[in-house]
Amino acid sequence: MREKKKKSSEKNTKFVGETLAFMLKTAAKEKPSLFFCYLGLFLAELAMNLKNILIPKFLIDELLLVINGAPVESHLHTIIVCALLLVGIDFVATGCKNIAESIKNTLGEWFNQYFAVMLSEHAMGMDYEHTENPQALDQLNKAKEGISWYSGGVVGILDYFYQIVLNVTIFVSVAAIILVKCPLIFPVQIVALLFDSFYNAKINKKEEENFLKLAKINRMFGYVLYRLVSFEYGKDIRLYNSSGLMAQKADAYTEDTTNIWKDGAIAGEKNLLKMDVVNCLRAGISYFYIGFLAVAKKISIGDFSMCISASASLYSSLNRMIDCGMEIRKRCNYAYQFLLFLEYPRAMQTGEKKVSGGEHVIEFSDVSFRYPRSEKYVLRHINLTIHSGEHLSIVGLNGAGKTTFIKLLCRLYAVTEGKIYIDGVDIMEYSEEEYRKLFAVVFQDFKLFAFTLRENITLGDWDFSEEEIARVLKLSGFYEDAGKLEKGLDTMIYKSFDEKGTELSGGQQQKVAISRALYRNAPIVILDEPTAALDPVAEYDIYRKFNSLVGGKTAIYISHRLSSCKFCDHIAVFAEDTIKEYGTHEELVHKKDGIYAQMFFTQAKHYIDIA
Ligand code: ADP
Repeated sequence: MREKKKKSSEKNTKFVGETLAFMLKTAAKEKPSLFFCYLGLFLAELAMNLKNILIPKFLIDELLLVINGAPVESHLHTIIVCALLLVGIDFVATGCKNIAESIKNTLGEWFNQYFAVMLSEHAMGMDYEHTENPQALDQLNKAKEGISWYSGGVVGILDYFYQIVLNVTIFVSVAAIILVKCPLIFPVQIVALLFDSFYNAKINKKEEENFLKLAKINRMFGYVLYRLVSFEYGKDIRLYNSSGLMAQKADAYTEDTTNIWKDGAIAGEKNLLKMDVVNCLRAGISYFYIGFLAVAKKISIGDFSMCISASASLYSSLNRMIDCGMEIRKRCNYAYQFLLFLEYPRAMQTGEKKVSGGEHVIEFSDVSFRYPRSEKYVLRHINLTIHSGEHLSIVGLNGAGKTTFIKLLCRLYAVTEGKIYIDGVDIMEYSEEEYRKLFAVVFQDFKLFAFTLRENITLGDWDFSEEEIARVLKLSGFYEDAGKLEKGLDTMIYKSFDEKGTELSGGQQQKVAISRALYRNAPIVILDEPTAALDPVAEYDIYRKFNSLVGGKTAIYISHRLSSCKFCDHIAVFAEDTIKEYGTHEELVHKKDGIYAQMFFTQAKHYIDIA
């Protein structure tokens, strides 16, 4: 039991230390001026605090001397200096404090943006399979909320660290006064403080528990809200009348959230009330004791004033230190979720090998695969070699595993059994960045971004070539349509951020996605049924052009329209979780009772032979 407690407290200090070190390092590296803000605040607040304790003592003692008959001239000088210091320190310190605060807050905003960018960069670079892992998604949400408004980020945490440094300094200063003038104040303050901290810890614990509970609810809530307002899902929501369902779900989440907050607020209020009682008792006992010392003439009236302020300061500085310590612990716990997310374990191993230039041979060697967290194999014993420059067509019914095959080849998932080799090397041994360069893929569920048409095609290639963009647009058949757009290539896709943006039809979007793949100029080109929204003639046209364009490159096509397969060197027919047939169009179409032959002739009945 004791061992367990020790381990948990070690863990606590570890995450506080790690998070604090991370925040200090980040501040020192990115914006060291933040430390000057804290130095300014420190000097201003220390001066204001000590001024309130020390100067009234001298002022009162001098005034009492004058009241009791001492000559005014000999005390006037000190009285004036004290009065000027009282006003002057306030004036200068408040000015400095305000300036430092406003610079600090601006820097705080800068750090919030900095972390938001860091978070999204990391999320985008995560293993693809994490994007459907609820644990990883919850961790992403905890990181997002933990690093922003829960912890307040760099400034939210360093504010409390700074408060500890300031209050330790104030504590040491006032403790010296108390020890000399009214030492019995110490035990009273300490006992009160222990009670106070106990109740405070209870409040913090409750808040932390609620943070973890809320992370999942907030994510689900965000999902529903996003669906409610998104253009992308607008049609489905309206046509299937699902806004009622969304609203019902949102209501349920709102109720859960409200209950958690209510529970936290009730627990908080109870403990705050107890803290108030303790505080009243502490102040009453302290003032009684200091008053007694003054009445018994053990201290002067000036000392009385100083001891009252010092005792209040002693308690408040001690209290602040403990509060800030607990607040730091709590905030570091929230922000630590961000550090955990940055270190979220990779789902897949990755290597360092570089991909060689020139020709590439792809080999699937007895590959079987089931999706993470699923028991069912969707591919079994896949053996296939795709030679450099070969054009392969993959066909099969829905759910046969065609897209999964492509995802494995693109290394979005790791195979469960077997190996995939490129140029004789296990693909997991290649560096991820290098490996990705091999492919230009258009998936069925490709996404365009709410950026300009040019950005959607060049995707971060800053040295883009206008001729190349025009060339790929002509190949995909979108060149003329693009020319009709008011701002041409600078037209925003979607109207999310620009009312003059364009809402492209499904077929047009596919042409843009195909242009993007062509622009990438990678040695292996994959089209995973991206032409579903095109009419058969447009699809035929694209595949024909595409085929001549990719020429010597390796190309893999998935299409439901088998007329497109005629262009390919080989056809692999996926069925029953594996490759059931493999050969050329001529071989397969004449295979008696063959799956491909059956599919081809069924389709041929519906289409005029456009080949
Ligand atoms: P196809 O492209 O031939 O239509 P898929 O490769 O998309 O087939 O899907 C093959 C099987 O894998 C289907 O049963 C599908 O439900 C399942 N599947 C696809 N994606 C996932 C996923 N992310 N997690 C779990 N199962 C999946």
